Amino acid sequence: MAVEQQASSLSELGLRLPEGLGKSSYLMTGDEYRSSLRDGRRIIDAGGLEVPDVTTHPNLRGGIDHNAAAYDAQWTDEGAKTTVHQRDDGRAASSAWLLPRTVDDLRHKRAFIRWNTYRTLGMFGRPFDYGYGTAAGLLAVSDRIAAHSPEWSDNVARFVDTGARTNLMTFGLGADVQSDRSIPLAQKPGRLRCVEERPDGLVLYGAKPCGSAAAQAHVGILNTLVSPGVNPDSMVYCAVPSNSEGLTLVLRPPVAKQGNTEDSPVDARIGEESDALLIFNRVFIPRDLVFNYKNPELLESYYEVQGLTLWHVLVRLAYRAQIFAATAQMMVTYLGTDKIPQVRDAVSDITAYAEGLMAYVVASEEQAVEIGGLLIPNERYVTPGRLYSVVELPRIMQLLRELSGQGMITRMTTEQWSRADLGPLLDEFLPGTGVTAREKNYFFNFLWDMTCSENAMRVALFENVNSLPPAGMRARIFQSQERDSWMRDVMNEFRLPTATQGV
Ligand SMILES: Cc1cc2nc3c(=O)[nH]c(=O)nc-3n(C[C@H](O)[C@H](O)[C@H](O)COP(=O)(O)OP(=O)(O)OC[C@H]3O[C@@H](n4cnc5c(N)ncnc54)[C@H](O)[C@@H]3O)c2cc1C
Repeated sequence: MAVEQQASSLSELGLRLPEGLGKSSYLMTGDEYRSSLRDGRRIIDAGGLEVPDVTTHPNLRGGIDHNAAAYDAQWTDEGAKTTVHQRDDGRAASSAWLLPRTVDDLRHKRAFIRWNTYRTLGMFGRPFDYGYGTAAGLLAVSDRIAAHSPEWSDNVARFVDTGARTNLMTFGLGADVQSDRSIPLAQKPGRLRCVEERPDGLVLYGAKPCGSAAAQAHVGILNTLVSPGVNPDSMVYCAVPSNSEGLTLVLRPPVAKQGNTEDSPVDARIGEESDALLIFNRVFIPRDLVFNYKNPELLESYYEVQGLTLWHVLVRLAYRAQIFAATAQMMVTYLGTDKIPQVRDAVSDITAYAEGLMAYVVASEEQAVEIGGLLIPNERYVTPGRLYSVVELPRIMQLLRELSGQGMITRMTTEQWSRADLGPLLDEFLPGTGVTAREKNYFFNFLWDMTCSENAMRVALFENVNSLPPAGMRARIFQSQERDSWMRDVMNEFRLPTATQGV
């Protein structure tokens, strides 16, 4: 496609991306990604200060640099194998935006998620490989959207196409701000709502919480959760560029340590994924970016719309579990506890967690359901898999802490190792099994960052409530029909009674 044509479709979407983006390729470089974030977005950091440039801000820079490295990897032969796919026109585009139509497509996307999970330890919930997010789900149900408004379904298709051609990074905005529960939802002051319908778009007012990666990505996909009592003016699905006029991103306090890579191997290497409260002070959403408005029917299509993102969450956690199992094995080897039967049991439990999650992933792909031309991993396995992943996660993290004994507390800093009167003694007294004292120290710094640090706790909080807390998942599983045929078969076999309705 010609350069001019690409640029014009970008402006049609209303995205105010910097000049040069998408000019000659569907892939961005790391530097193009950085420069695309210098787009006038308004961000207030934890110090109460406006952030003039997210790419140099101490708490945002680490995550951005790590994403930039992923953008750059797309341009290498090795990285391209997993991060890139070929579009119908023969051009390469990010696999994050590959629309799955076959099981092989899902497997390819899974390989991409694996690649990014291993390099981020899965600590970014809205990572570089998140791609279209909810928008692909909206595409899957575009017939239902079109029934209400063909224009909106066209907008979804155009957004997904443009996102793929411009290598956009997205984030999700679903939850509502926490406020006095005694006030009916429709009257809550912070409720995000449309306060003005204009011929050329919608004007939004209110707030959305916890925009993970909002400060480090390009565009959010706003969706309405299935909340009883939701007002029609809050039923909005749309794209929200982070640099929208009137939008302010208020960052939570930082959680990643600003250390060196020996003392803080994870924090210093990957930084942190930001979270922000998004304040919409009469934010104008151009018509082209509206995907659904005042259409309650879409609220009934929860899984069809969210299925691909929920599968993404499950896949990331399955690979994260492999990392936990690998880490457990390293730890017991370095500590020489690997021959103790109970220690082996703990490593086996973590391994079984990883294998169990992968079984859910594979089953969900093998029995994926075709919806609107897209292959959506089967909810029958995605939701129970997600429930299992979240319920077991604290126990798995605790096993890792338990196996470490004093390891994560008897850690010394580089300053302490560098003292002539101390370093040699630490070397002498603290060696591991087959590793030096300092190598063992480095490993436990890594484990601390992954399981105990402030950053690790933020991730743990995230996983627990991400995309539906356990209670919501249980409710969906209860609603499923699977038990009916199982029940029928047991009843028939043993002549068990069928309850009469109303008795
Ligand atoms: C680190 C982090 C990052 C996040 N990132 C994002 C993001 O990028 N995008 C996004 O949309 N959201 C994000 N969230 C928000 C998340 O989606 C919500 O926290 C979640 O949906 C729960 O909603 P709430 O916080 O409003 O909980 P509330 O509704 O206030 O409930 C608080 C708690 O009460 C209990 N509870 C409430 N209602 C019920 C019920 N009906 N049944 C049983 N228990 C109940 C649960 O324990 C629940 O966790 C993030 C959250 C965290 C912690």
